[in-house]
Amino acid sequence: MSLGPAVELSSDCAACGLESGVIELYDALSPATRFGLPVVTRCKLCSITHEAQFDREPARPMREIPANLCPACLSELGPRALDAHVCPSCGASAKLLETAASTDLSSEAALAQALDAWAERAMFPSRDALLVATFCDPDFGALLARIRLRARLEVLADPFGPAPMRPAATTTIASTVEEVPVAVVPSIPPPPLIPPPPSIPPPPRRRRVPSSIRS
Ligand SMILES: [Zn+2]
Ligand SMILES: [Zn+2]
Repeated sequence: MSLGPAVELSSDCAACGLESGVIELYDALSPATRFGLPVVTRCKLCSITHEAQFDREPARPMREIPANLCPACLSELGPRALDAHVCPSCGASAKLLETAASTDLSSEAALAQALDAWAERAMFPSRDALLVATFCDPDFGALLARIRLRARLEVLADPFGPAPMRPAATTTIASTVEEVPVAVVPSIPPPPLIPPPPSIPPPPRRRRVPSSIRS
């Protein structure tokens, strides 16, 4: 029941700004994941790493503990327990601890080294291949400038992960919506046609009144 393959998600890196740069590994057999936390997270660019820590020993082997129960006291965990990463019954808690600091990428050499290491890990033939396949702006100098400005490092949609595609889809929808009003506005110049009508109604009233009096 609680057995399952590890799940990998991604999130933006708060340290270096890399969009979808932090890989989060969830494991159903980890007490931390029972409390809604990944077991380990690591940024592909700056390498900042967090590892989950659970402050108790599980009461039984994790495979024997249903996924909705606290691994320490076996009481049921509700949504609030997951949000707070704390068991309301026994106080057992899970948290993420930084186990490797973010690499300072503000120098050309440091950024080059980080990109080369990433390219090798991900089996890209070169740093440039990684840049072109990953970043919206694949220029090395532009990337370095954005890092120095602590700007968001935008990446292309990743076909292997659903998370990175959300920003791209949102951008597409937003740009489409913006274009529609622009096209509609110019087609609303019929105000000149409105003045004539008001001058037409008055006559009928005047005609009706006299006619009813005459008859
Ligand atoms: Zn990072
Ligand atoms: Zn508990």
